Amino acid sequence: MMANQPIFILPEGTERYSKRDALRMNITAAKVLKDIVRTTLGPKGMDKMLTDSLGDVIVTNDGATIMREMDITQPAARMLVETAKKQEDIVGDGTTSVVVIAGELLVKAQELLEDGIATSVIVKGYRNAAAKAIEILNNVAMDADDRETLKKVAMTAMTGKGSDYAKDKLADLVVDAALRIAEDGEIDIDNINIQRISGDSVEDSFLAEGIVMDKDPVSKNMPTDVEDAKIALIKYPIELKEINTDAKIDITDPAQFEAFLNNEEEMIKDLVDKVVASGANVLFCQKGIDDMAQHYLNKAGIMAYKRVKKSDMERINKATGAQYVTDIEDLTADKLGSAGHVYVDKIFDHKLTFIEECENPKASSIVLRGSTRYVTEQISRALDDALGVVAATIEDGKVLIGGGACEIDLVKGLRAYGESVSGREQLAILAYANAVEVIPRTLIENAGLDTINLIAELKAAHENSSTTGINVFTGKLVDMEEAGVIEPLRIKTQAIKAASEAAEMILRIDDMIAAKNALN
Ligand code: ADP
Repeated sequence: MMANQPIFILPEGTERYSKRDALRMNITAAKVLKDIVRTTLGPKGMDKMLTDSLGDVIVTNDGATIMREMDITQPAARMLVETAKKQEDIVGDGTTSVVVIAGELLVKAQELLEDGIATSVIVKGYRNAAAKAIEILNNVAMDADDRETLKKVAMTAMTGKGSDYAKDKLADLVVDAALRIAEDGEIDIDNINIQRISGDSVEDSFLAEGIVMDKDPVSKNMPTDVEDAKIALIKYPIELKEINTDAKIDITDPAQFEAFLNNEEEMIKDLVDKVVASGANVLFCQKGIDDMAQHYLNKAGIMAYKRVKKSDMERINKATGAQYVTDIEDLTADKLGSAGHVYVDKIFDHKLTFIEECENPKASSIVLRGSTRYVTEQISRALDDALGVVAATIEDGKVLIGGGACEIDLVKGLRAYGESVSGREQLAILAYANAVEVIPRTLIENAGLDTINLIAELKAAHENSSTTGINVFTGKLVDMEEAGVIEPLRIKTQAIKAASEAAEMILRIDDMIAAKNALN
């Protein structure tokens, strides 16, 4: 019997890191990610310029976008990115804060570990602190869902995201759009589409009822204004070359050739006849429509669009009730959607199609205009965030004061709670409180101001007023409620929950086993 024979249970080349090594690696990765995104936090945060593998450039300070584009491979850092995505899905904003808080919780945990505190104690302390934090935030939250507050919430979310010069106008659009689609206090923001048009001023952006599409009919001779539209959504090419791509034809005399052409024409005519027979007068086709088909569609007075984007097809489906038809043989009257008015209008030098009075009356579009593609894309991301926070405020009717104000309340409340808990868990709760302070600290730091003094002043000011925060533009302490820096409660509670869960998940990992080269 060979006593010291090693036993391999994992394939050769598998990397394994256990206990402290695994934790150290993961915490370091989370810290790196936190340090990357933290410089973008708040109105004075800086932008990141990202280039993807195709060379497309994005300039943004939106945490979710940065992390999405960064192509992160380290598993713990990827978990944080997922957490930020979840935050984006649930509240639509607060993504940078989540990663910054989670990263800071892990840095503080590392210090505790080095002082000999067991992981289980830290996890328990963090969990209790997170529950307390939610309780404190709920206690300091204020009731509000009036139009004025909603506008402030929208403007706060847009601050520092490249849209500040037109914030007032854009916030009005967002609030109008959200109030328009609200139903019994619920909002489905998927009903609002942002249609970007570059080459004009942001000030000329507007809210439209129904769907707006950056496209016009396939032929100039088609109708451009249809009342009582019956809409067909076809994912089937109305052209011959796509139907018979591998057909082989032997033609031996000119008569045969003519017969073949006539036959082709008949086939196209048949396809168009199917559309006509269904009763459709507006046709959106995701594939091509060839010249001959256009001719027959024209003759039938059908307004037709070719190569419609998948996202537009989806919106039309949702708004008008039109069902997708993948084989034109299946196109019947019951598959058609309806809209009271479909027409083409020229805005700047773009021909746009408006689909109004849809079956789903909640469908709306914000037509966002901006000087260049970069500008419209950046503002569009800010609008997305603003829509998310306005929707959350309408749904919950609860807001908090931003600019570091509610975080200082949180730090104070958590410290008091920590003092009331005995044993080593107290250290974990106090560490949690210190970690939350990272938000006001970073806002101040990013503004190039004196962190130590201002944090001390802020804490002192909170002895009397819990709405005091930091005006990052002047470096002065001001009443943030008066300054209109207001955020939905849900952003902060979700950020606390998500950051705590992510930190706990990473702290619990004591073994990392990765297939060959997976960690490189
Ligand atoms: P996130 O992705 O986490 O939402 P942001 O870059 O949008 O990150 O920054 C949000 C933070 O900026 C919040 O803590 C908010 O209170 C703060 N903030 C927003 N507007 C102001 C302002 N005018 N003055 C000070 N702080 C502000």
